[in-house]
Amino acid sequence: MTQDPLRNIVGQQDAAIIPRYAGLTTFARLPRLEDVGGFDMAVLGVPFDNGTSYRPGARFGPAHVRQSSRLLRPYNANLEVLPFDAQQVVDAGDVPANPFDLGQSLASIEARAYELVEDDAKLLTIGGDHTISLPLLRAMHRRHGPVALLHFDAHLDTWDALYSARYVHGTPFRRAQEEGLFIEGRSSHVGIRSSVYSPDDFRDDAALGFSVVHCDEFETKGTAEVGAALMERFGDSPLYISIDIDVLDPSHAPGTGTPEAGGMTSRELLSLLRQFRGLNLVGADIVEVAPAYDHAELTGIAAANLGYELVSLIASNMK
Ligand code: MN
Ligand code: MN
Repeated sequence: MTQDPLRNIVGQQDAAIIPRYAGLTTFARLPRLEDVGGFDMAVLGVPFDNGTSYRPGARFGPAHVRQSSRLLRPYNANLEVLPFDAQQVVDAGDVPANPFDLGQSLASIEARAYELVEDDAKLLTIGGDHTISLPLLRAMHRRHGPVALLHFDAHLDTWDALYSARYVHGTPFRRAQEEGLFIEGRSSHVGIRSSVYSPDDFRDDAALGFSVVHCDEFETKGTAEVGAALMERFGDSPLYISIDIDVLDPSHAPGTGTPEAGGMTSRELLSLLRQFRGLNLVGADIVEVAPAYDHAELTGIAAANLGYELVSLIASNMK
C-alpha cells in the first residue's frame, strides 16, 4: 500500500493527525479491504441475531465493537508485537445477512467467510449471535479441514434444538460436531457456569467429545494452570477460537443476550489468551455483543480488546 499521509506506519488512521473520535469507523481505525491491494487478515462484521432466544440486539454488535475499538494502538506491549505491522489487517465490512431468512443468512455468512480465507488469510469475525459460528466453522473446514475448537461461553451451546428449531444460538457446536467439522478429542468449552435443563446436558456434551473448564476453575486453579492444560489439548492442530462475550461476568460485559452471574473478568480472559502464543490459530469470532444493554461501552471495549489480542496472537506467530 502506498503510504497514506493520514495513516501511521502500520496503516491505522494516524491519531496524531486525526483525533481518535473522528473519521469513519472501522475496526481499530484500520483501512477498509477496498482501500488496500491485499491482506493477511480480515475483520468481518456479521450483523445477525435471528438465532437469539432471550434478549435480541446482537445485530448491532459489529458497529458497536468497531466504535469501541478506536483506542487500539499500534503496539501490543503484553505480547511484544505490532499486530498490524507483522501482517496487513483490513476491515472487510459486514455480511449483508437477510433478517427474514435464517437459512439464506447462514449461506451468505459461509460464502463471504470462505471468500476471505480462501487464499490463506486469517479471519476475525464480530457477531452477531452465536448461530453464526456454524457457517464460519463450515468455511474454516472447507479451507483447513477439521479444526480444534476453543469455545468461551457461560453456556454449552451443544443443545439439540430450542422450540424444535435446530439452527439457533444454543446449538451451533452440536451441528458442527454432527457435520464432522472438528478434530476428535481436541475441543473445549471454557467458562461454563449457566444453569442447565438436566444433568444429561453435560453427559450429552461429553459424548460429543468436548471437555469443559468450569468458570470456577479460574478461582481454584488460576489462569496459568488452565491455560497450560488447554495448550496441551490443542497441540499443533488448526485452532478456531469462539468467544461468546457472556463468558465474562455481567459486571464486565452487561451488553449481551443471555447474561449469567459468576463469570470471568476481562483481565482473566485477556491474560489467558496471551498464553496461547505459538498455537496454530486460523480464525476466531467474538459474538453476542448486544449494545442496547451496554453501559459506558463496557462490553464493546472488552470485545474490542479481545479482538486486538486475537489479532496480536496471529501476528506473534508471523514475527
Ligand atoms: Mn452464552
Ligand atoms: Mn454462546
